[in-house]
Amino acid sequence: MGVLDRAKSIPGLGTGEDEEPPPYICLACETGFEVQHHSCPACGSFDIRRSKWVEE
Ligand SMILES: [Zn+2]
Repeated sequence: MGVLDRAKSIPGLGTGEDEEPPPYICLACETGFEVQHHSCPACGSFDIRRSKWVEE
């Protein structure tokens, strides 16, 4: 019955894990945002960057 045990231990199966990183992130406190803020609402830092640097 070792096959069933292995199947249950496969990562990502049946966990519903589909979290994606937020598009923007504060470099100071690493808080993620869905929209770009002028300053971080959490810590007030202006170091907010896009979490993904995708060249289009
Ligand atoms: Zn911050």
